Amino acid sequence: MRKKVIAGNWKMFKTVIETKQFFADFLNALNTDQKDVILFPTFTSLNEAVDAAKGSYVKIGAQNMHFEDSGAYTGEISAPMIKETGAQYVLIGHSERRKYFAETDETVNKKLRKALESDLLPVVCVGEDLTEREEGKTFEVLRRQIFDGLAELSGADIQDLIIAYEPVWAIGTGKTATDAQADEACAKIRDYLNELFGSAETVRILYGGSVNAGNIKALMSMPAIDGVLVGGASLKADFIDIVHYDR
Ligand code: PEP
Repeated sequence: MRKKVIAGNWKMFKTVIETKQFFADFLNALNTDQKDVILFPTFTSLNEAVDAAKGSYVKIGAQNMHFEDSGAYTGEISAPMIKETGAQYVLIGHSERRKYFAETDETVNKKLRKALESDLLPVVCVGEDLTEREEGKTFEVLRRQIFDGLAELSGADIQDLIIAYEPVWAIGTGKTATDAQADEACAKIRDYLNELFGSAETVRILYGGSVNAGNIKALMSMPAIDGVLVGGASLKADFIDIVHYDR
């Protein structure tokens, strides 16, 4: 049995003060140790979030990292810097990073290998855009993102890996993939992982794209979906209803 994951990506939202306020309310209402709850605040709020989450079941991650430990890369943050904050996870290859910051499967692979080497737990995002889906290329795209993004890794490297299937056309659009579409894509991703590594049964595969308190239950009931990565709806107080979807 893989432990369920409910993760929240805060993107470029919430100041340090807002982060503190969120945690005060959220932790007060949180009542679960059955799932992994992971929040990805901005870099500037990482220390505050780690402090606030201490002693709770909530884990903290960064939204991005550079693949070098240090260097002349203005504006970037490295794995050792993230580790120093106490954050345990890192998001890699989110579609907004791929779209606005020219990230490729190659940079995803470099970041992933650096994260693993640095003992950060990676959550790797994959997913097709609308044109690719309409042209029937969804599985071809997912296969390439998995094979190229996870190149040169071993079965041992991927034991604790989390993959988030996030169809680009469903992110921030209010348009959720149907439960069947999400489940089918997550199952395909597991097939590709099995093909690449022989076995990948411990890898958790999440769905992300306009998840909210109304659609979470149905998505979580699908056999190939181990959890969700939530963007917009993780910023609000009712994120707690998403985390408590099984109450
Ligand atoms: C995301 O940012 O990863 C995401 C899934 O966003 P949203 O839930 O807002 O679609």
